[in-house]
Amino acid sequence: AKRNGRNRFEHFTIEMDNQARSRRVIENDLRDAISGRQLKLYYQPITNEQGIIGYEALMRWHHPIKGLIMPNDFIPIAEETGLIHMLGAYALYEACREAQSWNTEQSVSVNLSPLQFKNSSLVSVVEGALRESGLAPHRLEVEITESVLLDDTLGNIRTLQSLKTLGVQIALDDFGTGYSSLSYLRSFPFDKIKIDKSFINDMGDSREALAIIRAITGMSRSLDIQITAEGVENGEQFAKLREEGCTLFQGYFFGRPQPSELRLKELE
Ligand code: C2E
Ligand code: CA
Ligand code: CA
Ligand code: CA
Repeated sequence: AKRNGRNRFEHFTIEMDNQARSRRVIENDLRDAISGRQLKLYYQPITNEQGIIGYEALMRWHHPIKGLIMPNDFIPIAEETGLIHMLGAYALYEACREAQSWNTEQSVSVNLSPLQFKNSSLVSVVEGALRESGLAPHRLEVEITESVLLDDTLGNIRTLQSLKTLGVQIALDDFGTGYSSLSYLRSFPFDKIKIDKSFINDMGDSREALAIIRAITGMSRSLDIQITAEGVENGEQFAKLREEGCTLFQGYFFGRPQPSELRLKELE
């Protein structure tokens, strides 16, 4: 048994080593990716009853050897290594530039890492992206997660207010997964709340998920905040969410994330 235990331990440490090594490889490659134009934004439609009102920008990494790498496999590493600031600025500049080329009034939503949000240069990066692209500020939306609200509340409110002063819209992403209560929403100037896709996924067979969706839509009506349901995958979910009072929808049922140029083809 002892010998077995030791083997397992050795196996475990080798695994850890491999993981650490592969993280280092990704970290090095990520530095090159930013300068080498391997990072690309894909755009997923956000619709209301009338049609597509905007797109969420979702990052993809086209690695020269490994192929397509998804954000959950490189954003955490970018956050650990500080590369997220460069990567995040790139996303803001690129999303504004591409949205400005669309010839529509549609908005573009950009995800902000909590680390970016806490960085004192965020507001000037957003300002720079708007100025350089010429995009009307109301067409840019930033998506932040609840974790941002948990600490340093006063500083965070100031940052949110500076962004609002620029004319940018603010969405609270992945709502329901974090720690904040519905009462938080009153203290912050959000334009939209995005209900996390896990609740949409579960609402068919979980009373609890449906109850949470109801609580969020009920609260939003009295606060005059729009609700986006994300991860809508079928017509059944869509119908149910409309019934519950959601006004904005996003998910594979309406369209998958696509490069900017394909997004335009889709509209023709
Ligand atoms: P998120 O912001 O919650 O984005 C929604 C995710 O759900 C996206 O995954 C999207 O492709 C996926 N999705 C959309 N519709 C459906 C659906 O109907 N069903 C299912 N199962 N999934 C759907 P993706 O593109 O892999 O991105 C994962 C996460 O990575 C994002 O979650 C976001 O937190 C982060 N991320 C992506 N791009 C950026 C970025 O530029 N900056 C930062 N900081 N984070 C990013
Ligand atoms: Ca998002
Ligand atoms: Ca989300
Ligand atoms: Ca998420």
